[in-house]
Amino acid sequence: MIIRPYNSRDVQAALWLAREKKMQVSVLGGGHDWAGRSLNEGGIVISMGRMNDIKIDPLQHVARVGGGIKAKELIAAAAPYKQLAVTGSIGMVGFAGFTLGGGYGPLSPSYGLSIDNLLGAELVLADGSIVYASETTYPDLFWAIRGGGGNFGVVTSLTVRLHDAKPILSGLICFPWSEAETILQRYAAFIKQAPDQLSSSIGLLPAPDGSPLLFIAPTWYGEISEGQRTIDQFREMGTIVMEQVTPMAYGDVLAMFDQHVVVGRHTSIQTRWMADLSADVIGEIGIAGNERTSPFSMMNFQYFHGASTRVALADTAFGLRKPHFMIEILSIWEPDDAANAQRHIQWAEKLSAKMGKDKAAFPGGYPNMLGPEEYDQIDEAFGTNLPRLQLLKQQYDPGRVFNGISIPQ
Ligand SMILES: Cc1cc2nc3c(=O)[nH]c(=O)nc-3n(C[C@H](O)[C@H](O)[C@H](O)COP(=O)(O)OP(=O)(O)OC[C@H]3O[C@@H](n4cnc5c(N)ncnc54)[C@H](O)[C@@H]3O)c2cc1C
Repeated sequence: MIIRPYNSRDVQAALWLAREKKMQVSVLGGGHDWAGRSLNEGGIVISMGRMNDIKIDPLQHVARVGGGIKAKELIAAAAPYKQLAVTGSIGMVGFAGFTLGGGYGPLSPSYGLSIDNLLGAELVLADGSIVYASETTYPDLFWAIRGGGGNFGVVTSLTVRLHDAKPILSGLICFPWSEAETILQRYAAFIKQAPDQLSSSIGLLPAPDGSPLLFIAPTWYGEISEGQRTIDQFREMGTIVMEQVTPMAYGDVLAMFDQHVVVGRHTSIQTRWMADLSADVIGEIGIAGNERTSPFSMMNFQYFHGASTRVALADTAFGLRKPHFMIEILSIWEPDDAANAQRHIQWAEKLSAKMGKDKAAFPGGYPNMLGPEEYDQIDEAFGTNLPRLQLLKQQYDPGRVFNGISIPQ
């Protein structure tokens, strides 16, 4: 049964029905969790798309948004006021699901993770009560939802800090995969000194013929000529085969990445947190790029630094505040290639296992990307915040009604 609430009372009714009928519940936001945890078999899906109201208070630099909005809708609503919010790099991702798990994005080096810009949230809890969690009301619940995922209730609205928009220089620079190892080495050395204005990802994108390309996707947030000089250093790292870096509005940055997402393909993701990209790991990345089993498979390594690292670990439930590469290895294939699914999945698992053995790998991984069966990594994903998170899960959802990203029992 799919229930599409208009307001918090409808959510209460859906939870009441699930309790009465002993039906499983899941919450569907933007539908971008690759493991499909927003759906369930035979139970109730609370689909949040109709709770898409957005109110901007430009004087206070605050947005109050419904629990079903997508990132691009918030950015479009704030743009007329020349303000913006921290979002992920893809416009169509659900804002609540993304935020509750942490929320890495192009503006994170300047303003922190999405959770670091969350001022409060209204939730319908497992017992049906409606509460507003913030620093002053239900502060323990507010702590838990900042990194603990959709494990504590249905988030019906979020109050989000906005920022005055600065100029942005963003785009994509592509190099031949044959130069991947040299460029990854240069990039890994360079990025550790990156200023807060620079966010970037490096990885593998398929060329139109399916062959692998090494890409760097920089976003500079600040004075444009300084950004050009900084991004020139990426340009000098190898032989450019395609480049498209230009000043643009933040909404266009998201639209640029949206065009690389093809809805309908099957996806399986492996993720790691790496302090560094060692020569050994870079060698394995080079090999994996050449051994892809599907022409659609990709890699994305996003560097976490700046403002996100200046928040104390214990201030939110998010498990790692040290600088790191957030590694995504994405096996992607067409539905009619289902016979080879295991081969595609194993390709990503093999590279992830090689990275996991490197002493630069932190335990755990980004909960929003971790699959439900990565038990070893899930156990470590909240770091020293796990015991407090487990206690709060027991307090607010003892019956484990909400099962988004996993919190080990
Ligand atoms: C193409 C793509 C790009 C991505 N880019 C980034 C990125 O740049 N940065 C980043 O950090 N992550 C990124 N992600 C990961 C993304 O943040 C997670 O997949 C997130 O869970 C997506 O949220 P959703 O609402 O779209 O997904 P859904 O599948 O709808 O929901 C996932 C889970 O979130 C919870 N949830 C969603 N809405 C609510 C709500 N209103 N109340 C309570 N719980 C809720 C539920 O537990 C649900 O199971 C990306 C994912 C994809 C597929």
